[in-house]
Amino acid sequence: MNPFLNPVFLTRILKSYFRDIDRLRRWDEDTLRSFQNKQLRKMISRAFSTPLYHDIYKRAGVSKDDIKTIKDIKRLPLISKEDFKNYDQQGLIPKGTNPSSLIKVSTSGTTGKSLSIYVNMYEIIMGLFGYLRTTREYDIFWRRHRLSIIGDFAPHTAETGYVKGGLTPNTLFPSVFKNIQWLDTNDPPEKVLDELERFQPDFIGGYTGMLGHLAVLCSQGAGKHIQPRVIASTGALLDPQLKKFIKTTFETDVFEVYGATETGPIAFQCRDKRIYHIMSDLLHLEFLNEQGLPARSQEAGHLVVTKLFGGGTPIIRYNAINDIVSPLYERHDCGIAGDLIDRIYGRDGIRLYRKDGKIVLASSLTSIFSRLLYDLRTSKVREIKVVQHNLDHIDIQLVIDMSADKQGPSVVQIKEVLEQGFKEKFGSEMTVSFQEVESVSRSEPRILSHVDPSSIQIAGFI
Ligand SMILES: [Zn+2]
Repeated sequence: MNPFLNPVFLTRILKSYFRDIDRLRRWDEDTLRSFQNKQLRKMISRAFSTPLYHDIYKRAGVSKDDIKTIKDIKRLPLISKEDFKNYDQQGLIPKGTNPSSLIKVSTSGTTGKSLSIYVNMYEIIMGLFGYLRTTREYDIFWRRHRLSIIGDFAPHTAETGYVKGGLTPNTLFPSVFKNIQWLDTNDPPEKVLDELERFQPDFIGGYTGMLGHLAVLCSQGAGKHIQPRVIASTGALLDPQLKKFIKTTFETDVFEVYGATETGPIAFQCRDKRIYHIMSDLLHLEFLNEQGLPARSQEAGHLVVTKLFGGGTPIIRYNAINDIVSPLYERHDCGIAGDLIDRIYGRDGIRLYRKDGKIVLASSLTSIFSRLLYDLRTSKVREIKVVQHNLDHIDIQLVIDMSADKQGPSVVQIKEVLEQGFKEKFGSEMTVSFQEVESVSRSEPRILSHVDPSSIQIAGFI
């Protein structure tokens, strides 16, 4: 029988996860470290029986017995997106795994390259529980409170795989998770707002952009009955000004959850919100600086992830999340065990360049776009595409919803705000041109640069 449909199996794993959800608060550091090592050995064993990893480790001359603790992990080669390309499903899952017990999820193709991995029901539920754990820090309990989660449920996204493929078809889950409302971030903000108004959640989790749009609508008088006790933002860096705007509009607390397709939730802000706690019972993170060496505390580095749970595609020293993140090698006194992140700089898939050689991460442009929300209070702009032609010229394509907030700012004002933002980031001599378009392609990066980095002297990140 397909384990996805087996109620005995599901009840068993749900019970074990109810226990696991709080363990970072229950455990001391030693308990956590020995758990990590035990899980690592389990995952390494699975990796060695997975053709992709088996082949790479064999070429590198490492054996299973070389890896006993987290400290040994550096002996394993890094795994890149390219490594996945030559393998089909059989090559990406441990030998002997029943393929019908797995769901395929695809990573986002924002940089043009997407890849598929396979997850089992354990991983899907653990991903959700990892997320629910973050809400407990803010006294939201999913069996007592109502939670609205606004995910990316476009076809082929990981969340569609996790939720629509794993959670919602199952007859057991609606009764267990009856307090959770799933909404789609691809729907118009007005529709999402109506659904929220109907459900009146205690908690709203969503992507930064959608939360901003909802705040704009609420600041214009809509959604009067939406009074969440806390809001969680994921997906993009939350600009401090936008955060303030969302907080004041909903008169509530806002915290950030950091995650990735391949891993589920990675880290979250505890109540003081200056740092992020890594879900160290689920993942081990490494940070490699531009020289490929372990980053020092608070030094920006490329994220390398090892997943410590799951029966689908192993994720071991996975170097393809493509985020720039800095670790914090300190302890935080709030009682959560595990490692810390100091700062998340954003996705490194696409870089734009400034005349002085500074790198502008595409993800840092959200602070310009956010101004439309908190400064102009408009949700007219539904899509933005940015093309950097050269060091002197950036072209911006805008999809404008003319039906939305007719009293709002004019298109001319919108362009002025964007132009000013780009000039502040890139210098006043930058030419910024605009085009209004019907739609922008989903299969292509929203932000791209034609600047050849080898033609300039690189001078670090801005
Ligand atoms: Zn803390």
